[in-house]
Amino acid sequence: MKSVERNITPVREAINWTPASWQGKPAIQQPAYDDQAELGRALAQLSELPPLVTSWEVLALKRKLADAAEGRCFMLQGGDCAESFADCNSALISNRLKVLLQMSLVLVHGLKLPVVRVGRFAGQYAKPRSTDMETRDGVTLPSYRGDIVNSAEFTAAARRADPQRLIEGHAKSAMTMNFVRALIDGGFADLHHPEYWDLEWVAHSPLAVEYRRMVESIGDSLRFMETLAGEPIGSYGRVDFYTSHEALVLHYEQAQTRQVPRQWGWFNLSTHFPWIGMRTADMDGAHLEYCRGIRNPIGVKVGPSVKPDQLLRVIDALNPDNEPGRLTLIHRMGASKIQEHLPVLLETVKNAGRKVLWISDPMHGNGESLANGIKTRRFENIRAELDHAFDIHAAAGTRLGGVHLELTGENVTECLGGARDLTETDLERAYKSSVDPRLNYEQSLEIAMLIVRKRGS
Ligand code: PEP
Ligand code: MN
Repeated sequence: MKSVERNITPVREAINWTPASWQGKPAIQQPAYDDQAELGRALAQLSELPPLVTSWEVLALKRKLADAAEGRCFMLQGGDCAESFADCNSALISNRLKVLLQMSLVLVHGLKLPVVRVGRFAGQYAKPRSTDMETRDGVTLPSYRGDIVNSAEFTAAARRADPQRLIEGHAKSAMTMNFVRALIDGGFADLHHPEYWDLEWVAHSPLAVEYRRMVESIGDSLRFMETLAGEPIGSYGRVDFYTSHEALVLHYEQAQTRQVPRQWGWFNLSTHFPWIGMRTADMDGAHLEYCRGIRNPIGVKVGPSVKPDQLLRVIDALNPDNEPGRLTLIHRMGASKIQEHLPVLLETVKNAGRKVLWISDPMHGNGESLANGIKTRRFENIRAELDHAFDIHAAAGTRLGGVHLELTGENVTECLGGARDLTETDLERAYKSSVDPRLNYEQSLEIAMLIVRKRGS
């Protein structure tokens, strides 16, 4: 199905807003920089550096998200909980891209819908923390806030918020983007060659047979259509890929907020799709203030404590003109809470006539710590939350238009269960995340297959 070409009506510029107006609001989860002059120099440099994305890509994504809200495509957003500077390497980047491409192939084939692919990368370097300070053996230091702020090592030097890291974050994001764009432009995402995306595991996975069958059937259809057309079908040779990250460190976001020729208003050109995390989604806070003034599509995480009137106020602030594609609400309730908390929110937003794209993050409400302190998530809970999400939307007459997942292309063992039924003992084998546990390649593909079974049925 072709994406319907529509102009998104230009809306007004945000009132009383500048890229710096967030500084007049309470800004939580920000690094405490100890040298303001040093910060100022880094930000001045950052604001001169080339942008990572363009305004026309940003607006194209907005149109696709408007389509997803109306059921004309499905959004797949995924990647690491946090990128690290050390992980900016070719194998990790291409494996993550491969698993996202494989998942999207499963979704396109099974749902018979285009998929809009949004990576959680090229800027996902900052993390919100539950405490500002961390104490170990009587020593108290600032918490690790992600590589764009400080370093995880527990020393005073490593934990200092270093403004140079803002520049390094931009550089690592640019390298990541450059590689992803080159791979995609070079035909890596070509549907004629899904073998490019094979990860070594595919041959050994319990899901391999089903995946291979799908790939063959797509190949057959493509060859059939090309025989009819008498020439290769060009548009299957390349796919679009967009980036996203949590808009958390607001100095970084502000420095890359730009005006561009022949467009009104301001764009955050560090990413296509910034989102506001659950801890920073306060109506009167700096994060909402910053995001309300940029023209990018915006995501907002919605947890179980959000009340209907609170959500309406957030929607009003971020999308006063009810612009399609502007706002994505990412619900992350937890398998045991979604049935109690989601229906009233869906009902409220629907009755108020607000145009939003709803997507499910079945990861962040399902975290747990094992007796040995290891953080994990159970595949059955992730699956249950997603199952419930589809059912609750169907019952409410609303639409679940996408998913937001934490995943990696590596063979990690961080989440329990899945096709190989990973156990607590397995977690010790390949637990690599220093933040939240991610789905590994097989568990990710399994989720894609489950979505097809659920939605496509
Ligand atoms: C995250 O997406 O990594 C995250 C911190 O999520 P949330 O804001 O939903 O807790
Ligand atoms: Mn996370």
